[in-house]
Amino acid sequence: MKVYLVGGAVRDQLLGLPVSEKDWVVVGASVDEMLKKGYRQVGKDFPVFLHPKTNDEYALARVERKVGLGYTGFDFDASPKVTLEEDLLRRDLTINAIAQSEDGTLIDPYHGKEDLDKKILRHVSLAFAEDPVRILRIARFAARYKNLSFHVADETLILMRQMVNMGEVNALVAERVWKEWERALQEKNPEEFFFVLESCNALSVLLPNFDVSGVGIKALSRAASLSADADVRFAVSLFTFNLDQAKIICERYRVPNNYSELLMLLIKHYQDYQSAKKLSAIHLLEVLKAVDVFRREARFKKFLFACEIIAETLSELNNSEWLNQVYLAAKNIDMKAITAKNLQGNDIADLIKQTRLAAIENLIDDV
Ligand code: ATP
Ligand code: MG
Repeated sequence: MKVYLVGGAVRDQLLGLPVSEKDWVVVGASVDEMLKKGYRQVGKDFPVFLHPKTNDEYALARVERKVGLGYTGFDFDASPKVTLEEDLLRRDLTINAIAQSEDGTLIDPYHGKEDLDKKILRHVSLAFAEDPVRILRIARFAARYKNLSFHVADETLILMRQMVNMGEVNALVAERVWKEWERALQEKNPEEFFFVLESCNALSVLLPNFDVSGVGIKALSRAASLSADADVRFAVSLFTFNLDQAKIICERYRVPNNYSELLMLLIKHYQDYQSAKKLSAIHLLEVLKAVDVFRREARFKKFLFACEIIAETLSELNNSEWLNQVYLAAKNIDMKAITAKNLQGNDIADLIKQTRLAAIENLIDDV
């Protein structure tokens, strides 16, 4: 059997970028041989193994056949006869279809190195059209390598449009969409993910109310330049959605709570953030409660940060400092004095509330 390094590791090494994970392809071996050598099989039906020591992924070279619509409709052949070239042919992009043998030689039948030099994201073969996840992957790679001036090849874009027309994008599973979306949010230029999806017409299928020339996308690039927080990036990018639209999208893609909650807070309370300096103490305390700041301080900070990004994008007021002062005033009340009164149940809650209100009123009077 022969083993080659493939995929992201070869690509990123050629780009001079750090390599985080290594994927290997094994040619001329059977499942039994791999098991005998001590590799552990990952899925029971899939010819992918983990190295007994390094835990790197080793996949038997395979060819794939499409047998149904969407992501699940695949059958494959991973017999020892499958060649390296055949395996590389089923990969998504030419820059991801370069193999490197143990002595360092590159095996690059689809000219990935040339596309790396030309900064082109190009599909390897027409088999690309068999898996709509590849559309999301291209959009994600575009987001990752935008700063290196990578762009999608014209012929690849045409193929992606055809796939969208054929209804392939409708067949995507929610988990796969979210997985790629979440990873895209962590890239250097996450806005590029949406631009590419828009340019192949997939965006209106995936996110019907998303406007790539709107405030959300501008806020997203701003957020990406300021912070790595994917949940903040997510929230500001969907800021223009109304609550119903946001709920539908979060449910549809089973978006994790930390993302969806921040988005909902931003949509519900950005106006309060804007008018914060005119609000009464009662109203301010209600906002703090609604944001659940006394139990979720870290999320409150993210909320303020998201509001700040929207405010800058819209040239509106930055009220973070003020709301933070209001919060601190309400938080730093003398709890000992309250417990010393030996009150019961609701009476304690009432006194806490009155004390907080008084603290906020004092603060308002001071400024
Ligand atoms: P990353 O740096 O994000 O890990 P990667 O290119 O290594 O990028 P992986 O998801 O780790 O991406 O996949 C490893 C390789 O497997 C890819 O480089 C590509 O050759 C191939 N591959 C992965 N997913 C697909 C897919 N859906 N269709 C075709 N080839 C794929
Ligand atoms: Mg990888």
